[in-house]
Amino acid sequence: GHDVVVVAGPCSVENEAMIIETAQRVKAAGAKFLRGGAYKPRTSPYAFQGHGESALELLAAAKAATGLGIITEVMDAADLDKIAEVADVLQIGARNMQNFSLLKRVGAQPKPILLKRGMSATIEEWLMAAEYILAAGNPNVILCERGIRTFDREYTRNTLDLGAIPVLRKLTHLPIMIDPSHGTGWAEFVPAMAKAAVAAGADALMIEVHPNPAKALSDGAQSLTPDQFDELMQALQRPLVSLSR
Ligand code: PEP
Ligand code: MN
Repeated sequence: GHDVVVVAGPCSVENEAMIIETAQRVKAAGAKFLRGGAYKPRTSPYAFQGHGESALELLAAAKAATGLGIITEVMDAADLDKIAEVADVLQIGARNMQNFSLLKRVGAQPKPILLKRGMSATIEEWLMAAEYILAAGNPNVILCERGIRTFDREYTRNTLDLGAIPVLRKLTHLPIMIDPSHGTGWAEFVPAMAKAAVAAGADALMIEVHPNPAKALSDGAQSLTPDQFDELMQALQRPLVSLSR
């Protein structure tokens, strides 16, 4: 019966103006947390890797300006302490879901963990990854479905497994977040999947939002504009279905 918690923001923290503007817009629309990568796991070593430590300072500035909670990814245990100074929730990305030494490290510190599903992880493997964090002493783990790798890569980046929601609801007490941005790869498909996730019982949503998606340094194609995000947040306030007899 609690409100759906919405996390929104750019894939990467690019500069001060864009992160502050995005934070203000998503806060005004009703988001509770700002996301934004400082350390980015990129397929190509030549792609933008994130601004690192200086991006953490910009996230701190966005938090001071808006009061939003901050979620950002930890890729390397060596960066954990400085990230935890700024972040309210630490993200473990899909590519690190089974980095067991990293899971043990984040399990041994007090900040809540957002554990993304590995791109080819079964639900069992995902829950066992969560178990590593819990077993190390951190009880605050949020599970985030972000799409899995299937045979169709032509029209969607990943296949968003909304079927995981009722399955996880049966298997675990951990809160469930859905990320339709990485889950579909295309902004135009995000609103439908966000609504479907809420209808299926998701506790939280993660939505990529960028002030100018065409110019984004990462994941522009799947990012909503602030205006599109406003529209989605308004749509989520309305009853999702009406049944007439
Ligand atoms: C992200 O949240 O920007 C990200 C890299 O996600 P994932 O690990 O799900 O690919
Ligand atoms: Mn991204």
